[in-house]
Amino acid sequence: MALTLDLKDESTRAALDARAAPRPELRELIGLSRSEMANALADVGVPAKQQRMRVSQLWNWIYVRGVSDFDDMLNISKEMRELLKRHFTIARPEIVEEQISTDGTRKWLMRFPPRGAGRPVEVETVYIPEEGRGTLCVSSQVGCTLTCSFCHTGTQKLVRNLTTGEILAQILLARDRLGDFPDTETAEGAMVPADGRKVSNIVMMGMGEPLYNFENVKLALLIASDGDGLSISKRRITLSTSGVVPEIYRTGDEIGVMLAISLHAVRDELRDELVPINKKYPLETLMQACRDYPGLSNAKRITFEYVMLKGVNDSLADAKDLVRLLKGIPAKINLIPFNPWPGSAYECSDWEQIEKFADFVNQAGYASPIRTPRGRDILAACGQLKSESERLKKSERMALESMMIAGHGAD
Ligand code: SAH
Ligand code: SF4
Repeated sequence: MALTLDLKDESTRAALDARAAPRPELRELIGLSRSEMANALADVGVPAKQQRMRVSQLWNWIYVRGVSDFDDMLNISKEMRELLKRHFTIARPEIVEEQISTDGTRKWLMRFPPRGAGRPVEVETVYIPEEGRGTLCVSSQVGCTLTCSFCHTGTQKLVRNLTTGEILAQILLARDRLGDFPDTETAEGAMVPADGRKVSNIVMMGMGEPLYNFENVKLALLIASDGDGLSISKRRITLSTSGVVPEIYRTGDEIGVMLAISLHAVRDELRDELVPINKKYPLETLMQACRDYPGLSNAKRITFEYVMLKGVNDSLADAKDLVRLLKGIPAKINLIPFNPWPGSAYECSDWEQIEKFADFVNQAGYASPIRTPRGRDILAACGQLKSESERLKKSERMALESMMIAGHGAD
């Protein structure tokens, strides 16, 4: 049975979470670049000659050891800690709900404080443990401005972009809850080697279109891959986009992480319908941006995501055209069984058809794993993440759960 921890219950909350509550009046340090952090320290009177040293101390405590309370920063004087506490916060967001699937997948619903005149927002983050690795699926926006016809997130209006700090907070909070930071009491601040970590990989495949929140996503990923901080290699970070061509070039030049493209159709006419941004950036320009992506090789391939929709894009003729379209691009193809949602107009392809499609693409020399749906019992699968902007009513949730149980899949 899936496990849901009700974090609204006072005693569970207190036992699980003894952290300080976020205080919106304080300035957030998480998400600032090193130079922004130095300027923030200057603003509160930290002398110029100390600023660099303080930034590296803070960086280490926040990102290597994962502390969320200035009082845990043992090598910083009490006086300095008091100053930091008066002006800044490194508190984690509130966890509204934590769910653990029977297959080990975890999902957190986090609440971020209002920005400006807005309301608090809620965001989902999913952790998928696998043999020898663990992948965290991170959100970049609350809702999405795009309207891909098979995607549940696409039915929600964009509420707002997440800030750099909110994107990073998803990683920090997941590592807290998984016990993935070194023990501050005993450790000498040593970094946990990449191989031994629970969160070894990041995918920007949660809610939202990351390339429509480019600056915040860029800084968050540069901080996540910083070798003196979280130190998650850029080879282990994958950004998924529906195809915002100009920002694909910028991703290659300015971020340098692995790229995934939500392809889903191999003809413009069908892709216009499934992934409407195709009208702005059609397949030819998208494929050119892929060919131009820096550093591509067989060891560094682009992932093409392809959702399997019964009778829509799953014929062998589609598979053939797919192989033709990707010719010359070091690629792997991720076949995603469609995850239904109430009111969706599509059905998942028959399992036999997905396998035929995969075999064809495989024989043409492309790795084409079928993505096993994970965390179905907690609605954590691709395209099912929702925000508080449109939370499921109980009846809808039950309908969706029974669709999941009756649905197709590898399990
Ligand atoms: N907006 C970005 C990041 C989201 S990634 C993008 O579109 O690439 C989430 C992946 O899940 C995308 O490939 C998306 O197309 C896919 N997806 C969305 N809804 C889905 C559904 N109902 N079933 C299966 N996959 C879905
Ligand atoms: Fe937005 Fe991606 Fe969903 Fe399309 S598939 S609506 S881009 S989240």
